[in-house]
Amino acid sequence: MSLPNALDLRSAIRTIPDYPKPGIKFRDITTLLGNARAFRRTVDELVNPWAGSKIDKIAGIEARGFILGGAVAHQVSAGFVPIRKKGKLPYETVRIAYSLEYGIDEMEMHKDAVNEGDRVVLVDDLIATGGTAEGAVKLLRNMGAEVLAACFVIDLPELGGAAKLRALGVPVRTLISFEGH
Ligand code: AMP
Repeated sequence: MSLPNALDLRSAIRTIPDYPKPGIKFRDITTLLGNARAFRRTVDELVNPWAGSKIDKIAGIEARGFILGGAVAHQVSAGFVPIRKKGKLPYETVRIAYSLEYGIDEMEMHKDAVNEGDRVVLVDDLIATGGTAEGAVKLLRNMGAEVLAACFVIDLPELGGAAKLRALGVPVRTLISFEGH
C-alpha cells in the first residue's frame, strides 16, 4: 500500500530500464534526494509511525541507506549505525552471510555498534527479495538489539521481501510500491 498523496514522491523517482542488466528496472532515488521537498517528506514519513517512540539507533544499509538513515537519525535524535559490505569497516566487526538474487555475500557492522536491548530502526532505499534486509535484521538481533521496524522508500511487493521481514516479526514501513521487479 502506498502513502496518501505519494504521487509527488513517486514522480521524484527516476526509473532506468535495463540497468544494471537487461530486464531490471532500476529505481533511482538520486532524483528524489536532489529534490528538497521530496527528500524532507521522505525522511519525515519513513519513521512517522515510530516518531513518538524511543529509538536508540538507526541502522542504514550501504550505500543509499546511509544517506536516508543519516537524515532519519538526525530527525529522531538517534545514533547512526552503518551496515557495510565486508572489509570496509576499520574496527572489529561482526559479520553475516546473506542471499542475493544470484549467490551470497557478507555484510558487517562494528561489534560495539549496538548495545544489548538497543531499540533500532533499519533503513534502506528499497526492498526487493528482502535478502539484504533479512541479513541486517539477523545481524542486529545477534548483537542483542531489538529491531523496532524496517523502513524503505520503495517496495517491490511481487518479490516478497516485505512479507519475509514481517514473518520474522519485524514491522515494515514502505512509502511507494512499484509493480514487477
Ligand atoms: P533485496 O536484498 O533483493 O531486497 O535487494 C535490496 C537491495 O538491492 C537494496 O539495497 C536496493 O538498493 C537494491 N535493489 C534491488 N533491486 C533494485 C532496483 N530495482 N532498483 C534499485 N535498487 C535495487
